[in-house]
Amino acid sequence: MAEKKTAATNTLAARLVRLGLRTDADFVLHLPLRYEDETRITPLCDALPGVAAQFEVEVIDSEIAYRPRRQLLARVSDASGSLSLRFLNFYPSQQKVLQAGARLRIFGEVHDGYLGPEIIHPRFHVVGDKESLPERLTPVYPTTAGLGQATLRRLIARALERTDLADTLSPKLCESLCLTEFSTAITLLHNPPPEIAQALLESRHHPAWRRVQFDELLAQQLSLRRAYTARRARGAPALRATTKLSKALLASLPFRLTGAQQRAWSEIASDLGQPHPMQRLLQGDVGSGKTVVAALAMLHAVEAGYQTALMAPTEILAEQHYRKLAVWLEPLGLEVAWLTGSLKKREKASAIAKVGAGETAIVIGTHALIEDKVEFPRLGLAIVDEQHRFGVRQRLALKEKGLFAHQLAMSATPIPRTLAMSYYADLDVSVLDELPPGRSPVTTKLVSEARRDQVISRVHDACRAGRQTYWVCPLIEESETLQLKTAEETFARLATELPDLRVGMVHGRLKSEEKAAVMAAFVRNEIHVLVATTVIEVGVDVPNASLMVIEHAERFGLAQLHQLRGRVGRGTEQSACILLYARPLGELARARLKVIYESTDGFEIAREDLRLRGPGEFIGARQSGLPLLRYADLEDAALVERARAVAETMLRDEPQAAEAHLKRWLGGREELLKA
Ligand code: ADP
Ligand code: MG
Repeated sequence: MAEKKTAATNTLAARLVRLGLRTDADFVLHLPLRYEDETRITPLCDALPGVAAQFEVEVIDSEIAYRPRRQLLARVSDASGSLSLRFLNFYPSQQKVLQAGARLRIFGEVHDGYLGPEIIHPRFHVVGDKESLPERLTPVYPTTAGLGQATLRRLIARALERTDLADTLSPKLCESLCLTEFSTAITLLHNPPPEIAQALLESRHHPAWRRVQFDELLAQQLSLRRAYTARRARGAPALRATTKLSKALLASLPFRLTGAQQRAWSEIASDLGQPHPMQRLLQGDVGSGKTVVAALAMLHAVEAGYQTALMAPTEILAEQHYRKLAVWLEPLGLEVAWLTGSLKKREKASAIAKVGAGETAIVIGTHALIEDKVEFPRLGLAIVDEQHRFGVRQRLALKEKGLFAHQLAMSATPIPRTLAMSYYADLDVSVLDELPPGRSPVTTKLVSEARRDQVISRVHDACRAGRQTYWVCPLIEESETLQLKTAEETFARLATELPDLRVGMVHGRLKSEEKAAVMAAFVRNEIHVLVATTVIEVGVDVPNASLMVIEHAERFGLAQLHQLRGRVGRGTEQSACILLYARPLGELARARLKVIYESTDGFEIAREDLRLRGPGEFIGARQSGLPLLRYADLEDAALVERARAVAETMLRDEPQAAEAHLKRWLGGREELLKA
């Protein structure tokens, strides 16, 4: 018996944890989605279709009917009218309760049914003799399977009773910000009086919600601000560079830096000279030339006598960086080391040993770089490309490794302003807002799948004229095996349809040597058409490829389409991206295709992406486990701004209140937020 009870408690605990409910404060801050008004009884004749209400009725009769499937039907009435209750799933105990003559309180929405007005699956209970009506609206909380509202309500009420709801903001501050007192707001939200405007409350525009939203944003800002200060307080080597190597690199390049590249480079160089760790994001649209800026930063670290590492999220991308940087840096007399999970055991061990002994100054690789075994005795600068593609754990691991090193993250996904003020507030940002000269913009075409033949002949013509083509396979999110099968079918089909062209294929399941061999052949123009999955999405740079076909473009996300399209338009040739789509198009797919068709500006696209998907999706928080804002809206820039200002003064003037606020809102989850 005792055992059974533990098991039950365990599942309850597990369910609560799934909702993020651990501490009393968590329960207190678990706020209702909506309310049900059980404070009044509505006469049946006043029931409005589709509006939930409470009724007090007497059961006339009940039966189990079979039309068409087994169901429990009860006829009930009050002084003003009658209706049916219908249960498609029910327990024998429920049937027993619904006896003729039973007095019930029921809650639900009345609809016009087959037999007249009815409520399907009403909530009901037998009403006691002198049972009074509740005095407050009944909260309905977000929950999870197997956890009923009654249990949640009980646990939350208990937590409310024993939790100190003292305000973390001073009365003066509340007043100047026009904010409701915390305990008033929280009590109201859990137990609103019946006379309140329920619609206002549920739309979350009520002042009580405003307070909660502010508090949530404040917690986020406090945490980010604190991380920022902690970082500034940590030491890092002030990298003093001779600029000899960077000058030599610049002299050897066939191009001059753009103004934006120069600006970003000098911002980075100045950070690297500081005695605390840089944490900077280099943000620039695809093709804006981030790699050369990274190379300059790496040289800076090497000149100062330190090691530097560049980490990329995929083998293909890491390999591309490796090749490019080797071409640039080896002529300067520097060795560039290569470290990925797919290296042979012996090669890997030797690379790790050389890095560990400090013999290798420049290392490029995948997340193999942050494995425990890899040690950098003199790491001065860590660079992460496409940082948002790494998971939280990897980002934390890198943080640990490079705790006292400078960090540069690179991303082609621009961060919208409100996100920059919140999730990324801990970063300094350099922006490459200018593309290198001589690029011709990519023309985007939307072509229905029905006209695939025309696309094939266009690919044929382009390749016969010496150009190359990417053919991107449809995305199949549910299954990697299916994805692979599709890629292979596409490959076979194109090879048949284009017999005089060489068709190659690259996908995620290939061994890394195989991938590298295919990519190298494509770079040498020995492959005309490269059939690829999204493994080519980031970073791949083959200027002679001027045509891209994306099959089932309607399945891809906006950022993905933008990244993919960025693979072409890298040479001087007029480039095109053909988005093949299949009908029927859903509303969201149509909206996405419209955006990508109309715009080539990464910022514009990111903004639309944010609008279509919401901020949580945008930052990949679903996968990363980042605690999202539950109540506040990041789009509410004014409130974010205010929270930011308050966070700053609070940390300075009232550190204890700041501490209490963080504890209430984030409990032990602060680490995740900073990853
Ligand atoms: P991304 O920002 O997408 O990583 P890359 O660093 O791969 O862009 O640069 C894209 C291409 O542009 C590369 O072939 C690179 O050598 C070239 N490039 C970079 N900077 C310049 C420049 N200032 N002028 C001309 N070409 C440049
Ligand atoms: Mg790149």
